[in-house]
Amino acid sequence: MQTCGGQASSALACELPVTRYEKEIVDVVKKNDVVVIIGETGSGKTTQISQILHHAGSTEFGVIAITQPRRVAAVSVARRVASEMKVCLGEEVGYSIRFEDRTSEKTRIKYLTDGCLLREFLSDAELKQYSVIILDEAHERSLNTDILLGLLKRLCGRKSPDLKIVITSATLEGEKFSTFFFGCPVMKIPGKLFPVEILYSTQEPVNYIESAVQTALEIHTQKGPGDILLFLTGKEEIEKAIMKLEDRIRQLEEGSCMDAIILPLHASLEPELQVRVFTPSPPSCRRIIVATNIAETSLTVDGVVFVIDPGVVKQHQYSPMTGMYSLVVVKISRVQATQRAGRAGRTRPGKCYRLYTEAVFENELPPVTMPEIQRSSLAGAVLHLKSLDLKDINVLEFEYLDPPSRSSLEDALQKLFIIDAIQEDGSITHLGRRMAVLPLEPSLSRMLLAAEEAGCLSEALTIAAMLSCESLFLPSPKKSASHKRDLEFKSLPDGMGLGDHIQLLQIYEKWHEDGYNAEWCKEHGVKIRSMMFAREVRRQLSQIMKWEDKGLSRYRRKDPKMLALRKAICTGFSNHLAHRMQQHNGFRTLGAKTHLVQIHPSACSMEVDDDGLLPEWVVYNELVNVGRPFIRNVCAVKGSWCQPALMKLSKLSVTKLGGAQSSTLPSVEKEQKVEKPAIEPLSATQKDLVAAARERFLARKQARTK
Ligand code: ADP
Ligand code: MG
Repeated sequence: MQTCGGQASSALACELPVTRYEKEIVDVVKKNDVVVIIGETGSGKTTQISQILHHAGSTEFGVIAITQPRRVAAVSVARRVASEMKVCLGEEVGYSIRFEDRTSEKTRIKYLTDGCLLREFLSDAELKQYSVIILDEAHERSLNTDILLGLLKRLCGRKSPDLKIVITSATLEGEKFSTFFFGCPVMKIPGKLFPVEILYSTQEPVNYIESAVQTALEIHTQKGPGDILLFLTGKEEIEKAIMKLEDRIRQLEEGSCMDAIILPLHASLEPELQVRVFTPSPPSCRRIIVATNIAETSLTVDGVVFVIDPGVVKQHQYSPMTGMYSLVVVKISRVQATQRAGRAGRTRPGKCYRLYTEAVFENELPPVTMPEIQRSSLAGAVLHLKSLDLKDINVLEFEYLDPPSRSSLEDALQKLFIIDAIQEDGSITHLGRRMAVLPLEPSLSRMLLAAEEAGCLSEALTIAAMLSCESLFLPSPKKSASHKRDLEFKSLPDGMGLGDHIQLLQIYEKWHEDGYNAEWCKEHGVKIRSMMFAREVRRQLSQIMKWEDKGLSRYRRKDPKMLALRKAICTGFSNHLAHRMQQHNGFRTLGAKTHLVQIHPSACSMEVDDDGLLPEWVVYNELVNVGRPFIRNVCAVKGSWCQPALMKLSKLSVTKLGGAQSSTLPSVEKEQKVEKPAIEPLSATQKDLVAAARERFLARKQARTK
């Protein structure tokens, strides 16, 4: 039996700004259907508002849902609240994230990702089990939160008097949310933020990691007590910086400064390691926390006095014009810069070291962060809206807080049409409906349904589960002399020369044959955690698909079942087709737009013919731009299988695909003028600025690598 509750310090909770406004919060929620609550990060919005409403009786007739844009935050915060309330996690307080549900009959306060709540709309369009929905961290403007905002607005419009909606935000977007929700009240919770002195660099750093490390060292050796929070863009950078810091701190003279504890903080860190940042530093010891922008708003680290901000963030960017995803390092917005600086003033006056010039801050940083809806592929979101079957929804006209571009919606509609999720007239198909229920990208869902029909669902489930893992392979051991040979990994299955999907299937099957052994993973350079995750995902997907597992069996390449499986993969990814060039191994992608691409070097080796040429037709999961366009996760298919998709591509009509009442498009523009948001979306010039800044950055980067 697990022990509950514990060391919670309710004394500390009492001091939080939000708890001081308990009465006012209860009051304003009682009197209004929708309320916006604004408060500094760390003021207690995420952990306290739910408890306040719970104590005020809001949970007597329904559950309180609090959405989080990030999985990590949902788990960590639920754990925190359970401990503050001295209950077992999963009982009164629980969480639900994709592929992991820790709630029960007893649950009254439920933290869940915005994606999970969106999914719940499918089974209950009125969200009857809830009494309050708290859309938390709304300022992060995740794609799912934006869709939820639109759906919840429809719900209020429909007079659903029992449901209360609370939108919380850390920054200045409060008025914008209020305008969107019919001018609902905005409650501002004054925070106790100490002044933060901003120090700019006098010149742009050549290498921001190095510059950040040096700044951290200077602070550590020259300044008084107080933790340092250093923002970097991702795990690799964080690990690199930590190595540098450890090296150089070790070289410092013994006793010349206080001890340092260096901690990473990023989303892919194991939860046990993540919570370490909540333990205050021991006396005469300084913590240096090296974090992604997860520490900007999602998780509050106390004790920080010095913030180092290189002014960059890693962002997924999807271009509907090219159909290409790129993960690029971009300049943060001024809102983000302010948010980062604020982290230094939570316990006492602090300092923020901006590793860029004031001119850059003023002239080059965009004023606000571009919402995800304007930089993501919308296929999943659009399928979702279509499947809600709300007669009056035309996805091209849906009320978005910041509408995505027309081309982005069109791109999504075309993709859905090609994989049979919607019909020519825009109505959702039976297949589309089933796809929407699966917690997967539409292409993967389509693959599963095709596989089900072809009798190879078990294998397709494995592939879908394996593709759901964030990172599967361990970094290969360095081939230096100090490493013994036996440190090298045993070779992995080769995908029979057919590509990555089949290789993933084989890896899972080998692991299965080996009794799901951790040792096997270690030997083969595969992350055990990811494999366990895949196994769990596979189990859940089987359950949703009502597939009774009869064990795994292995095939040879020519088995009819292997052919059927590849055909199912082809059907799922038929909006991701690529055709090889006649003379060389470049590929041309097919679709509304075409590109010349290469297969990503990380792909498992594919068979080649006598002339050294790769298979003529492939499907791929992702088209990414890392300097050059690459296709990633590739599977060899047959030309004849691609014909249905190619046929469909030739007869597309996007206006029809939009759905109900497309002919009334012009009136949308009129409506939008009435609902003009308080803060404008990025204007064309701002976008140009962002694009220009990015180009300059890339040019500099290229110059460096030369
Ligand atoms: P907000 O949502 O307004 O940013 P939170 O409710 O997340 O604020 O946090 C309020 C306070 O609780 C912060 O001071 C934060 O450091 C603390 N806190 C939050 N989660 C944890 C945790 N898991 N362990 C310890 N302290 C936490
Ligand atoms: Mg919060």
